[in-house]
Amino acid sequence: MKLNLSEEEKVAPCGMNCSLCIAYIFNKHDFNKMGFHKKYCPGCIARGKNCTFALGNKCNLIATGKIRFCYECDKFPCESLTRLDKRYKNKYHLSMIDNLNYIKENGIEQFMKKENQKWQCKTCNELICCHNGLCLNCHIDILKTNKKYSWNKNN
Ligand SMILES: [Zn+2]
Repeated sequence: MKLNLSEEEKVAPCGMNCSLCIAYIFNKHDFNKMGFHKKYCPGCIARGKNCTFALGNKCNLIATGKIRFCYECDKFPCESLTRLDKRYKNKYHLSMIDNLNYIKENGIEQFMKKENQKWQCKTCNELICCHNGLCLNCHIDILKTNKKYSWNKNN
């Protein structure tokens, strides 16, 4: 299993930046050794599955690796991607469709530069997890106390 991914390999076909995903961050830090029971994932591309989540089951082009990014598809943005995008916009403060449009216009390198700035923890420089809004390197204890913690919902 590949652990040192290039910036390009960190971005899934749907436009998700895998390095913000809780399963990616847990894998990277091996946090289950602290008593969690979460899924580990090295990233959609690193797994060799092209897409780990919803879209791969519904889209043959992604599942077979015929396209690298959803924007290459005639149906972009399709209904599945739009649904995923809406959920991530509401819950996780990011838009796959915006990401893909940005990548199409500016390239992956520029995109990752922007992402690393947007999500970087000011204390330790690791990336904030989009699934809970925490830098898990600094604040894994918050997740330990409240396993369902998400983006300061109680505040
Ligand atoms: Zn931090």
